[in-house]
Amino acid sequence: MSETKILLSEKEMPTHWYNIQADMPNLPKPALHPGTKQPVGPEDLKPIFPMELIKQEVSTERWIEIPEEVQEIYKIWRPSPLIRARWLEKALDTPAKIYYKYEGVSPAGSHKLNTAVAQAYYNKAEGIKRLATETGAGQWGVALSQAANFFGLECTVYMVKVSYQQKPYRRSLMQIFGANCIASPSTLTSSGRHILEKDPESLGSLGIAISEAVEDAVSREDTNYALGSVLNHVALHQSVLGLEAREQMAKVDAYPDVVIACCGGGSNFAGIAFPFAYDKIVKGAKVRLVAAEPSACPTLTRGHFGYDYGDVAGFTPLLWMYTLGKEFMPPGIHSGGLRYHGDSPLVSQLVHDGIAEARAFGQTAIFESAVLFAKSEGFVPAPESSHAIHSAVEEALAAREAGEARTILFNLSGHGMLDLPSYDDFLAGKLEDYPLPEDSLKEALAQLPKI
Ligand SMILES: *Cc1c(COP(=O)(O)O)cnc(C)c1O
Repeated sequence: MSETKILLSEKEMPTHWYNIQADMPNLPKPALHPGTKQPVGPEDLKPIFPMELIKQEVSTERWIEIPEEVQEIYKIWRPSPLIRARWLEKALDTPAKIYYKYEGVSPAGSHKLNTAVAQAYYNKAEGIKRLATETGAGQWGVALSQAANFFGLECTVYMVKVSYQQKPYRRSLMQIFGANCIASPSTLTSSGRHILEKDPESLGSLGIAISEAVEDAVSREDTNYALGSVLNHVALHQSVLGLEAREQMAKVDAYPDVVIACCGGGSNFAGIAFPFAYDKIVKGAKVRLVAAEPSACPTLTRGHFGYDYGDVAGFTPLLWMYTLGKEFMPPGIHSGGLRYHGDSPLVSQLVHDGIAEARAFGQTAIFESAVLFAKSEGFVPAPESSHAIHSAVEEALAAREAGEARTILFNLSGHGMLDLPSYDDFLAGKLEDYPLPEDSLKEALAQLPKI
């Protein structure tokens, strides 16, 4: 029998990140300044980001060196394993070969630490003392707290209030690493106070928390802002996923017919898929790239492709992306990390150009696949990651139906050990699906900025 767990040694770890901006047939249109509506320049971003990340954001160099200090920290959990899902294959009685890249081994429990460490490093190197950020379900807040701690930076996290109340253990984790975790909307920022005046009971949203974190960073000289997904430099840092996975598959003479990841802001999809997109664009490989999103927040499958703000207050630059409108308030599904109105401009452009594709799934379906996966492979997946699992299960069943061999690779972006209350709800039959009604979609899209 061939290998089940395919490992790389530290010596085989990627030394450079892959930048897809070097190879895309069409780059997304440039980000626009929220006031002037002109393309943003480095000067506009300097109050909140270090110069090195601003350069990466617009770089068209194909390979960007991973700083040695970042590589050293990566070695705590990287290279992450690639695992052949033999028991899932058996359970599905499929001729397909299923492989998953497992990012739950990181100290943060998800892929997010790959970019958090890089971002903390560049901020430290440019003299920044403190980072401000937002977090939805808490995974990004945990990852940035850890990374800030590694580099001796202070960290303030605005956490969406509903999650702050419902996910106390992620808050505990942030506190272990010394971060200051604040329920958003808060009275500490004018954007938070503005929301609370209108609705004192507001449970917050990612868009509101971003406004608070950006305002915090702009108002203090020693503080920068950090974003855990969406932006080009985040996609760049996550490319270690696909670079490692491609190496690992080559070790067992395998190459995927389809690469799958869940998609919230797009960073773990970008991470696993972009190195294969390179093969597809530059070398003509026949690989399919599938982004899996919730049908309650169907940005790529039903959103509008155009300019929109990244936050509710309209502080951020306008990004060229698929969006449901910045005012879109997704229902409280259990995949907090996928509840964002927009998507990475790079992922959006690739979907628009037909290089990648997108699928949307309801939460009862994804939890069914999550439990099947847990029972087959043992790992309890994050609800977000379970969208990718469900899509992989569909691919495997289609292969069975067609009686054809198919090699499937998906990214298991994180573990679900802090999401057990969601599993309780599923097992008790309490989960509901919230397919977005056409009317609500029209309403949300009517609010889009006119550019
Ligand atoms: C945040 C998160 C996601 C979604 O974010 P992307 O930027 O789309 O990758 C997916 N899975 C896990 C485990 C997460 O924490």
